[in-house]
Amino acid sequence: MLMFICITAAIAIFAVYCFIPNYWMRNRSKRVMRCGQANKPWIALTFDDGPNPIYTPKLLDILKEANVKATFFVVGQQALKYPHILSRIHREGHSMGCHSFSHRHAWLMSPWHTFKDLKLTCQAIESILGYKPRWYRPPWGMFNLCSATAAWRLGLNVAYWSIEAQDWEAKTTVQHIYDTVISRARSGSIIVLHDNGGAPGAPAKTLEALPSIINTLKKKGYKFVTLDQLKGD
Ligand SMILES: [Zn+2]
Repeated sequence: MLMFICITAAIAIFAVYCFIPNYWMRNRSKRVMRCGQANKPWIALTFDDGPNPIYTPKLLDILKEANVKATFFVVGQQALKYPHILSRIHREGHSMGCHSFSHRHAWLMSPWHTFKDLKLTCQAIESILGYKPRWYRPPWGMFNLCSATAAWRLGLNVAYWSIEAQDWEAKTTVQHIYDTVISRARSGSIIVLHDNGGAPGAPAKTLEALPSIINTLKKKGYKFVTLDQLKGD
C-alpha cells in the first residue's frame, strides 16, 4: 500500500512540476513566443548554446557579410569565458537572450535553483554588456512549473521556435539542415540553430548550411529580423 502511495505521489509530482507545464508552455501559453505574425515576410534566426570561440566568430562573419541580424541565446558560463565574443554580438546589432547558466535540464532543477540559475545568467550578461538581456529560452526547450515565472520575474520574454533542423546531431547533414529550414520557412518563423554544443563538429555543418539558407530565403522575399523586431518592439 505504501509503495502504491509513493508511486502515485511521484507520478503526480512529475505531472504537475514537469510534464503539464512543459506541454502548456511549448504548445498553448500565449505568453510564449513560438512565431511572429504572418502578415509580414519576416523570419527570425536564433542561435543557442554559445558563445563558442571557434564557431561564433565565423557565424558573426557570415551574418555580417549577409547583413543579417539574429538573436543569440547564450549560456551564462560560456559568456563569462568569452566576454569579447558577447561584446561583438552586441556591437554588431544582434539581440541577446539567456539560455541558462550551465545548460541544465529544467526537470532536474528545483524552483529555487531554476530562479537562481536564470538570475545568474542575466547577471553574467549584464556584467559584460552593461544591460539586461530581454529574452529567455530554456535548454532543450524544456520547462518546469517555475521556468516561465522565473523569467517573467526577471523581466524576460520567453521564446520557443517554429523550426528546428536537428543540427546538433552527429548524423544530420548540411543538406538536411538546408532542406528542413527551407521547406518549413513561413512568414513569422523562428528558426533555432546552434553555434555551440551537440555532437563534435556539429556547428560546422550549421555554418556551412547557413549562407545558402540566407540566400534562398532572401530570394523568396523574406527579411531577417531579431526577436525584438519580430515581436514588434
Ligand atoms: Zn541549448
